[in-house]
Amino acid sequence: MEARFHDGRTTASRPVKVWVEDEVLVFHADGEQRWPLETVRVEMVDDRVRVARAGDDPARLSIALSDWRDLTEHAVRHHRAVRRRELWLVGALATSAAVIAGVVFVGIPAASGPLARATPPDLERKIGRNLGGQVSLAFPACKGVAGQAALHGLGQRLGKTSGTPFDIRVRAVHAPMVNAFALPGGTIMVTDQLIALAADPAELSAVIAHEAAHVEKRHVMQAVWRSFGFGVLLDAVVGGGTGAGQQAVLLLGSSTNLRYGRASEAEADAAGQDLLTEQGLSSQGMAPFFQRLVNTSESKNAGAVKELISDHPDSQRRAAVSRARAKPGATAFTPTEWVAIKATCKDGYDPLKRVRSLF
Ligand SMILES: [Zn+2]
Repeated sequence: MEARFHDGRTTASRPVKVWVEDEVLVFHADGEQRWPLETVRVEMVDDRVRVARAGDDPARLSIALSDWRDLTEHAVRHHRAVRRRELWLVGALATSAAVIAGVVFVGIPAASGPLARATPPDLERKIGRNLGGQVSLAFPACKGVAGQAALHGLGQRLGKTSGTPFDIRVRAVHAPMVNAFALPGGTIMVTDQLIALAADPAELSAVIAHEAAHVEKRHVMQAVWRSFGFGVLLDAVVGGGTGAGQQAVLLLGSSTNLRYGRASEAEADAAGQDLLTEQGLSSQGMAPFFQRLVNTSESKNAGAVKELISDHPDSQRRAAVSRARAKPGATAFTPTEWVAIKATCKDGYDPLKRVRSLF
């Protein structure tokens, strides 16, 4: 646009070209001048507009009113476009956050069941072997051969009864917690502290049957899918294909502490008891063992009682449900086997010595 520039110190004026860039009035007079529209003072003089800078700079521009309108209209449109783009971005971000949250918290958990059931057993075994290697490093197997054999025998019987494609291998391990957990592919680990806590064969076999049911119902693979899927998304969002997200999830989620959720726990309780009953074994050990876990976690370190009970009211309820479902039956281990099992982990293992050997 054509305008006249007065430097304010003389009466002279000269023609300049003005335009608007990103809401700034630009023209050349003794070098480039940039006057933000926000800061200028505007005054009407007949059919022209006098534009001055804020403050006491005497310089001013004189622009025809219609030209001034065109210039500022453009700026207003630009301003609106920027606002629209900002709003669009905010909206798009909010939408994608909602989609990601939906996939992570709704989609993957909902899909994890079907995904687990569709996972080929060979793939699950392979995942189990990989995890098993890492877990064994952290939790070394107990050395009592006879006790390991007795535990293994029960796992094999339960596996046959359940009809799972997986070989159920029960292993007693050293770990600083009361816990039993199943790995993908059918390996069940029972910690030395859990073996010490179990009062009789019925209690220990109930825990093992509960874990065997997690394997049978493919809850283990379901939990893996849930954490795996989350890892994939984490990669998509932060990592860009580095696999860092999956690594983080595998480390954080740790295969030993997979959360199955209430429905799966209830299912494993019932199916585990059924497995024992089908073998002619007593399923009366589950309720007292739950009670024992509750008492232990109340009296000692609650953090050490892991997967088996996640919160107290639920454990009380589970104890009541298993009590109602319990059926009498044979004992899972002979007295000789029981003595051997109780001695399996008394192999002189010294966790401190192991820690020291790492340094
Ligand atoms: Zn469980």
